[in-house]
Amino acid sequence: MIVIMADESAAQKTLAKAKANHMEHVYASENRVGFAGLKDIDEVPFINEQQVVDVITNHPAAMQVSRAFHSTDTVIQTPHSTIGGQNFSLIAGPDAIESAEHVLAMGQAAKAAGATILRGGSYKPRTSPYSFQGLGEQGLIWHRAAADALGMDMMTEIMSPEDVDLVGKYTDIFQIGTRNMQNFSLLKAVGRQNKPVLLKRGMSATVDEFLSAAEYIASEGNRQIILMERGIRSFDQKYLRNTMDVSVIPVLQKLTHLPVLADPSHAAGVSEHVTPIGLAAVAAGAQGLMLEIHNQPAKAWVDGKQALTPDQMTNLFAKASAIHEL
Ligand code: PEP
Ligand code: MN
Repeated sequence: MIVIMADESAAQKTLAKAKANHMEHVYASENRVGFAGLKDIDEVPFINEQQVVDVITNHPAAMQVSRAFHSTDTVIQTPHSTIGGQNFSLIAGPDAIESAEHVLAMGQAAKAAGATILRGGSYKPRTSPYSFQGLGEQGLIWHRAAADALGMDMMTEIMSPEDVDLVGKYTDIFQIGTRNMQNFSLLKAVGRQNKPVLLKRGMSATVDEFLSAAEYIASEGNRQIILMERGIRSFDQKYLRNTMDVSVIPVLQKLTHLPVLADPSHAAGVSEHVTPIGLAAVAAGAQGLMLEIHNQPAKAWVDGKQALTPDQMTNLFAKASAIHEL
């Protein structure tokens, strides 16, 4: 149940009273108080009825991330980026951190192309346990150094709740990958710290499952969540790794106030198709793009087939920004 109150201060007072009454799962935003799980205002006897404007009971289960709870677009501020709303965010970098020199060179190219966020994995979720698993903390150190040298934000994937403190020591934005979208203990762990979290859609996740995963993060207190569509599994994987679900972008933007970005690299899986798929996502309203890049794609340690060269990235970002402006 979401209770719309006369103003923000009435909402805050109600929240404080609910906490004093040891009620669980009560949250406030703007002039609203959300009581997850409750359906009847009579269950909140301490509420000042005079200050209640309306009660919404038919909101989505993922209450806090819904527009019923927070009507305006969430805008997330990081040291070097403003994500969400009318802003258009560009993220690029290698799939995996390979060396200090390489991440710095990729960061330079990304920054020159307009990106403000430097991505790169040091903890890699690989299908085979025998594939390269990432450089671990050494990768984080080189990634952080490159981001600092260039004045960019660092974003890196986290796979386990135990790593929150270690990864959080370095990164500006946590990335949760498609394979961990429903790793609920990981979602709760990043929800208990205050850096933004970029949550990728599970490759077979429905819209409601995606939003509920985001709600797990919000339920622990962190509402700085960025959603990313990265392609879903479909019936034909012969020519493309996944299928970019372009249609989910406006659907999500109607349902949630969180920023919605797209990753055409993992959707396509082959570099020659990344550009048109990325542009389609921007035309559908994506508030930013993430690209995997490499100066020598054939020699990339991970995901070389889908890596764009710096020149291809520059071209795509320029076209994407022009489409976003329309
Ligand atoms: C990645 O961004 O490198 C990655 C592993 O992405 P996803 O989780 O979407 O497969
Ligand atoms: Mn990758």
